[in-house]
Amino acid sequence: MKAIINDGCIGCTMCTSTCEEVFRMNEDENVAEVYGAVTADNIDDAREAEENCPVGVIVIED
Ligand code: SF4
Repeated sequence: MKAIINDGCIGCTMCTSTCEEVFRMNEDENVAEVYGAVTADNIDDAREAEENCPVGVIVIED
């Protein structure tokens, strides 16, 4: 599985604090980026980030 962040991130940092194994902030652009794989160990946190992103730009794909 992997996470995707579509255009439109507002840099709120919710996903990076909810699932720091998958998401991190790109400090230069002030948007979140994906840098880690979604695994059995972090899927619950990744799904929580997907559900709670205020602008709905996170997608978890199989
Ligand atoms: S939760 Fe959504 S808006 Fe907030 S930093 Fe992550 S991708 Fe961007």
